[in-house]
Amino acid sequence: MIDLVRQAGIDVSDWANYERGRENPGANPKYCYEWAFVEPGVQVVLNLWHEAMREVNAGIEQYFNFRGASASQEKSGARKARRRRMEEAVALAYGSGLPVRVIVLDGDRQANGKPTRVSARLLDPLPWAVTRYNDTTGECILRRGVAASAYADQFSLSPPDGKSGKREVTATVRERDPEVRRFALQRAKGKCQFCGAPGFQLSNGSTFLETHHVIPLSEGGVDSVCNVVALCPNHHREAHYGSNAEAIREHLLSVLSGT
Ligand SMILES: [Zn+2]
Ligand SMILES: [Zn+2]
Repeated sequence: MIDLVRQAGIDVSDWANYERGRENPGANPKYCYEWAFVEPGVQVVLNLWHEAMREVNAGIEQYFNFRGASASQEKSGARKARRRRMEEAVALAYGSGLPVRVIVLDGDRQANGKPTRVSARLLDPLPWAVTRYNDTTGECILRRGVAASAYADQFSLSPPDGKSGKREVTATVRERDPEVRRFALQRAKGKCQFCGAPGFQLSNGSTFLETHHVIPLSEGGVDSVCNVVALCPNHHREAHYGSNAEAIREHLLSVLSGT
């Protein structure tokens, strides 16, 4: 497994940090039973069972519900925690539009309390993407061979300090619905909705614009597609701090009413 995770591009140097790490980092219990590996801002690697994949609309998909019946029957605390981390990884991939690499597992899945036996592992050369994730129910759909979102905004970026994905959460940060951001970015098609200039290209190929609430949440604006636009970074700052912020707001409201 360590070889496949490394092959996917994840840093595995910490696997050696345990008592037998020097001779056998691949057996580090902190990692070797994990189902999900996250490289913040870049990608997510998930272990998926081959037998759970389904052919849907001429492609391959896998459906999950992290909080379904099997989750409530789960007795092992360790497996519950792994399940939770798997869901967190999926939520991150979905919210940030990260590509997913899949390690395909074959063998006997855990059933009737029998232990799982993996007979083969393979890193799928094609990327996957989380095409749907419902954070209320835990349902999600992954699809093989589709690009993660072509568009990204300021919330999709990894933290600039490079710290391991821990989000600084302050009291002023309000919850933003990733579905709303995603829709607003798709609707703008990569162009600033104030000046029409195209967003720039990120290193992962997606187009960057910033999502902006025309009526700020702090003024009672709603977190909905009828109040969110995509702007170039310049006009986003100007919409907040420019001397003509009021005129920009009026213009964006008229743009939104025309969509
Ligand atoms: Zn602009
Ligand atoms: Zn804004």
